[in-house]
Amino acid sequence: MINFAVGPVQMDEEILAMGSEQIPYFRTPEFSGLMRENERMMCRFMQAPADSRALFLTGSGTAAMEAAVMNVFSQKDRVLVVNGGSFGARFAAICRIHGIPFEEICLKSGCALSEKDLEPYAGRGFTGFLVNACETSTGVLYDMEMIGRFCRENGLLLVVDAVSSFLADDLRMKEWGISLALTGAQKALALPPGLSILVLDRTAVKRVEEGSPDSLYFDLREYLKDGLRGQTPFTPAVSILLQLNRRLKGIEEQGLETEQSRIRGQAEDFRNRIRELPLEIATKSPSCAVTPLHPLGRDSHGNCVSAYRIFEVLKDEYGIYVCPNGGELADRIFRVGHIGNLTHEDNAHLVEAMEDMHRRGLL
Ligand SMILES: *Cc1c(COP(=O)(O)O)cnc(C)c1O
Repeated sequence: MINFAVGPVQMDEEILAMGSEQIPYFRTPEFSGLMRENERMMCRFMQAPADSRALFLTGSGTAAMEAAVMNVFSQKDRVLVVNGGSFGARFAAICRIHGIPFEEICLKSGCALSEKDLEPYAGRGFTGFLVNACETSTGVLYDMEMIGRFCRENGLLLVVDAVSSFLADDLRMKEWGISLALTGAQKALALPPGLSILVLDRTAVKRVEEGSPDSLYFDLREYLKDGLRGQTPFTPAVSILLQLNRRLKGIEEQGLETEQSRIRGQAEDFRNRIRELPLEIATKSPSCAVTPLHPLGRDSHGNCVSAYRIFEVLKDEYGIYVCPNGGELADRIFRVGHIGNLTHEDNAHLVEAMEDMHRRGLL
């Protein structure tokens, strides 16, 4: 089996082996020390300002999305939400549930956000901005530098979901004025699912401290406080945090740029290999995490080949997982991930399978 999904992704042998070990008790100086290392390295790789904090939640990426919105925004805010697909729509749903006033900038599928899209919202009294750096459902990477500039000029607090983008694309919290960035374990960190991480700059920390969310588990004030001594209010995902420590140290040894360029190389290699196939990359601004593909081929009846059917055949007949889309994109788009423990050789296997399907009239 080769897994090209966009999470959970393929883990390396060392991380897998750690997952088979007993889980230690965690209210210890040893675990606290490891957690402080995790905090330091997460802030570093998010390129956050010096006095930033990293918080560790037991829950998938959506838990961190919801916790971020609940803790830094309130009914007094007016938040702009970029909705270019299902993850942007999720931010809007979270605002709606928590009664936070918001407006959506809805984008056509596969389209990036432009200066023109932002213009009508300048100087209109908005206080916050929610965006997914990479809208994983369509594979679009937004121009975070441009968004950062808009937020700075208009005084908006910028909160970024970098769940799929972290490590795959550059993320410069300090330079781009991002106050809060969040990610999850099962994307480019290539760990088991169940852990999410929020990195907050001083402004976001202050917002959290002054807020009072209607939640016990998601009250980030407790995480800020306990984090000072390397602990969490509730039982954390201990084993994943141990694996995270190993993974982050590995990145630190090689350098962040090496890991980012490895993933970029994986994406470029794949995109080069599919040039002769009847597949169109479904966006002009793809993230390095994933390539969204629109099949152009026709079956023996002259009908468009279904993207979902391609996913099924690759899974059932070739033992290869790509990522199908849901909803109205299901037949039009499937996605190939470049994150996790994948090689150029894995790309070659996938493209061979696709070439074979093309010969069989299935792609
Ligand atoms: C994967 C992902 C999430 C988190 O989804 P979970 O299923 O809750 O882990 C959030 N945002 C983006 C952009 C993602 O790609």
